[in-house]
Amino acid sequence: IVEVSNARKTYVLGNLEIPVLSDINLKIERGEFLAIMGPSGSGKSTLVNLIGCLDRPTEGQILVKGKDLNRMSDQELARLRGLEIGFVFQTFNLVPRLTALENVLLPTFANSRDGIDPVKRARELLEIMGLHDRMHHKPGELSGGQSQRVSIARALINDPAILLADEPTGNLDSRTGAEILRIFMDLNMEGRTIIIVTHDPEIAKYADRVILVKDGIIQYN
Ligand code: ATP
Ligand code: MG
Repeated sequence: IVEVSNARKTYVLGNLEIPVLSDINLKIERGEFLAIMGPSGSGKSTLVNLIGCLDRPTEGQILVKGKDLNRMSDQELARLRGLEIGFVFQTFNLVPRLTALENVLLPTFANSRDGIDPVKRARELLEIMGLHDRMHHKPGELSGGQSQRVSIARALINDPAILLADEPTGNLDSRTGAEILRIFMDLNMEGRTIIIVTHDPEIAKYADRVILVKDGIIQYN
């Protein structure tokens, strides 16, 4: 579902060039549960941002669902990202002034699938996440685990093929983290492709495959 070939990423800050990823080759199968590990600053988030169509490689090719990111317009890229990729972050990234339900609906204002009632779907997802009684609460009134479940519901609102999670349990205690892991495992059982960046070997244990990013390359896979 994702094919990265000879990809490099160099950030440019003024006249400073910072090479972050140097030669990445990675094939991710549909339905795979992949864990990405590696030291801080090694380029894990950069890799996930490339796979998630948030950025383009400086060199090399990335195919997502067969589409070459380099051959797409910014608009096409945004649409692919909006429909096929769900993002979950360490810090939840919920909008504080909006309720849980409104946060889950938010992505549908930019992109949505035809023939789906977004409000109905958002309610369903929050129910699946065990939050039927928290729909009208704002993030400040939710626990970390509840906030992360809202953000997973938000990531699923457009039924993406790929779920990308960048240290989704990093701000949670281990019991809540285990509950969040359980949700990802259930979503994977339903056939969704899960890519999770984690520092926690306990979480990596449950992945189909673990790759280690170090100094901008994949050390083994
Ligand atoms: P962590 O485990 O701390 O989250 P990471 O493996 O996710 O680290 P990245 O966030 O991918 O690492 O960053 C890799 C390197 O790229 C770091 O040196 C970082 O400072 C640099 N970097 C990341 N984003 C940018 C950017 N937008 N502009 C310039 N440099 C960046
Ligand atoms: Mg990171």
